[in-house]
Amino acid sequence: QWIMGIETSCDETAVAIIKNGREIVANVVASQIESHKRFGGVVPEIASRHHVEQITIVTEEALKQANMTFAEIDAIAVTEGPGLVGALLIGVNAAKALAFAQNKPLVPVHHIAGHIYANRLVTELKFPLLALVVSGGHTELVYMKEHGHFEVIGETRDDAAGEAYDKVARTLSMPYPGGPHIDRLAQAGNPTINLPRAWLEEGSYDFSFSGLKSAVINTVHNAEQRGEIIAPEDLAASFQESVIEVLVTKTMKAVAEYGVEQVLVAGGVAANKGLRSALEKAFSDKPGIELVIPPLSLCTDNAAMIAAAGSVMFEKGIRANLTLNANPGLDIELYN
Ligand code: ATP
Ligand code: MG
Ligand code: FE
Repeated sequence: QWIMGIETSCDETAVAIIKNGREIVANVVASQIESHKRFGGVVPEIASRHHVEQITIVTEEALKQANMTFAEIDAIAVTEGPGLVGALLIGVNAAKALAFAQNKPLVPVHHIAGHIYANRLVTELKFPLLALVVSGGHTELVYMKEHGHFEVIGETRDDAAGEAYDKVARTLSMPYPGGPHIDRLAQAGNPTINLPRAWLEEGSYDFSFSGLKSAVINTVHNAEQRGEIIAPEDLAASFQESVIEVLVTKTMKAVAEYGVEQVLVAGGVAANKGLRSALEKAFSDKPGIELVIPPLSLCTDNAAMIAAAGSVMFEKGIRANLTLNANPGLDIELYN
């Protein structure tokens, strides 16, 4: 089974081809980070224009990498949502055009299902499992009892973890995307500054990061007004400690309550060194539960993950026809 994946939900134009749901034969990502950097974030109109320019080139490059022709592809999987509507539309329309012209099945994929399924490119999934999704737009705990079935047991009520990283980085005058910069800075600092942890109500698996973000911004502004200097590496370390403590504690609680076999980490913030080592430490005395964290290149946006989720959706018989539209607010539980 050969699946082509297409991903254009944000600022990466990506096309990949995978074999039998797990083996990457081509994985091409054209990043637009350089174009958005000077604006301090993704500009939707610019993202769309880049996708239009790149989509054909990236698709041809993927076929070339795989040394394949379209005739050999079994289905085309595309990110239907969530994401920027104008960006999603480019991928959705490219996929529809290809499916029509090449007479191939079209499989709609949820972007976050893709992030979760990046883990299946690392190892076979074991159910029931829990996925900690930490990306630029999402922070969620997702319970899966079987392939293609998603139950959101907790999610952020305001900012996503990645969003908080990017905003804190901007406060510290670091370039977009700020996550990796804060991560690097944090390794060099000490968590000496007192910052809040948003635990929310007892038993809740929801998250909240906007209070923490505001606390960091206030700390910086107050210090500036008093003419004091705060070491940015200590602030980064304190911020990172707060984020990680909440993420890891809630994940471990859910692991105990739901009795899972495997824990998957997904999304761009899964690239965070502090989070990776804190999770590895937390699971070091839980030998019965397998912790899976994808390599960095599969944590941030790519199309191999979309093809991996698409492969499972294809097997489940999920298809879209040529009326498929971009859905910026798509619900992950829709295809359960
Ligand atoms: P979503 O998947 O929710 O639609 P997205 O696709 O924009 O959002 P991803 O590509 O999964 O998000 O991840 C990008 C985010 O990951 C950015 O916010 C970035 O700052 C963050 N990030 C990347 N590397 C690190 C790191 N080492 N530490 C912390 N955050 C990181
Ligand atoms: Mg991105
Ligand atoms: Fe993403």
